[in-house]
Amino acid sequence: MKELAQVTNISEWLAQLSPAWDRFLQFEHPDALQNRNHWVSVLEQPLPEQGVGLEATLALLAKHIVPNGSAIPRPGCSSWITTGATNAALLARWSADLASPQRLGLTAFSLLEDQSLAWLQTLLGIAEQAQGQFTAGGASANLIALGAARQAAYEHLGEDVAEYGLSAPGVLFASSACHRTVHRAAAVLGFGRRAVQSIEVSQQGQMQVDRLALALRQARDQGVLPIAVVANAGATSTGAIDSIAAIADVCEEFKVWLHVDGAYGLPGKLDPDYEQQYVGLERANSVIVDPHKWFGAPVGIGAVFVKNAALLARSYSAGPSDYLEGSFTTENAQHSMDVPGSVPYNDFGIDLSAPARGVMVWAILKEIGVEGLRARVCRHNAMAKALGRAAEQHPNLELMMNVSLSICCFRYRPNINCDLNQFNRQLHRELVHRGINIPSTASVRGQLVLRPCFIGARADFKQVDDLLTDVLSIGERLEQVWSNE
Ligand SMILES: *Cc1c(COP(=O)(O)O)cnc(C)c1O
Repeated sequence: MKELAQVTNISEWLAQLSPAWDRFLQFEHPDALQNRNHWVSVLEQPLPEQGVGLEATLALLAKHIVPNGSAIPRPGCSSWITTGATNAALLARWSADLASPQRLGLTAFSLLEDQSLAWLQTLLGIAEQAQGQFTAGGASANLIALGAARQAAYEHLGEDVAEYGLSAPGVLFASSACHRTVHRAAAVLGFGRRAVQSIEVSQQGQMQVDRLALALRQARDQGVLPIAVVANAGATSTGAIDSIAAIADVCEEFKVWLHVDGAYGLPGKLDPDYEQQYVGLERANSVIVDPHKWFGAPVGIGAVFVKNAALLARSYSAGPSDYLEGSFTTENAQHSMDVPGSVPYNDFGIDLSAPARGVMVWAILKEIGVEGLRARVCRHNAMAKALGRAAEQHPNLELMMNVSLSICCFRYRPNINCDLNQFNRQLHRELVHRGINIPSTASVRGQLVLRPCFIGARADFKQVDDLLTDVLSIGERLEQVWSNE
């Protein structure tokens, strides 16, 4: 028996595979579903007893796998908020996977882990004293932050929930537009999804702060333990930014933890037109942002910042372990492996082993700087505004919600009497079928809307024009078909 795994000369192998990446990024290939039977027949195979070697493996990757990937990196794909990665971020990620297969150890990668978190704090106005860490995404970032909030709430009762578990139920407060990962965090933390009390939003999609105050007062009167208030800095469906400063006032009054979910929208702060809406952010007890959204990092990187780092340690420290204790001698370190790194990230969250992710954020910001990222955010926001204006002006389009950040919620309005939700759902199906401009749908006050979120580094004003052209031509044709039925 012989092992075949190649572990050297990676650039030669890269040269073999990378032309397939270039071809993919021209976006001239058909959608994966069109050739599905073919690639399924090639790829669906029993467990191989014998290896075929790297050359044949790469040939399959190049010919059958890469070309049948996702539409997400397309410039016209505006449905998911995660996006195709930029070259800098991809190359940095592969470098980390190759040269630093852990964030542990005092390496150049771990320096960038710390530095890129500090850069995010400066860039986005997150409180200086907050302790950051990278996570797999926004879902785990929300969970880690709300776990720290849980620790704080029970410590106020004189209890250590991380050590002994829940002694009493608790309630979280979030707007009806909050991301469902907040509910998941509530479930995992032992409160249950139903413990997320929904606060109604305004016509603009923002949490109604007077209703939040009312809910907190009722909770206090009923002796219910409030765990946290979750404010949106960019709602996933509408881009709406909650009134952070006003919510922070209420949280202070009721002594409740303020968590700001900026997974999508925190970088919106770089646009001078929106900057004012983020006032008060530094008052939050915890904040999250996803580098794998507006920053253009490959999927698998979120970031969470918690003001009180000691709470993180009390929430997440696994306690002593015989496989790790004694591995590190922080005094008189003579080797990068002597030191766990400057920050004990593995005791501040839910992962032990984790990739070095900071180098991706470092590479992104090193390549284009704050100015470059600001230009991207401003361009995307301006694109949503341009689309919003077009929707207001065109007799067959209807703007369904004030444009906020890079999201525009609109729909087609035919000149016939019909179920507009059904009409727009079918219009959306046909857009997806064409496969060039792919927004998602969302629901605004019970109405189905087309909801592009411009976020990919490749998305530019051409995509606004193309989307409008597609929506109008499909809408007109559907209108004829429907009026003949
Ligand atoms: C995307 C998003 C999340 C979830 O983040 P993932 O990275 O997909 O896990 C949470 N909150 C908001 C507001 C989001 O837009």
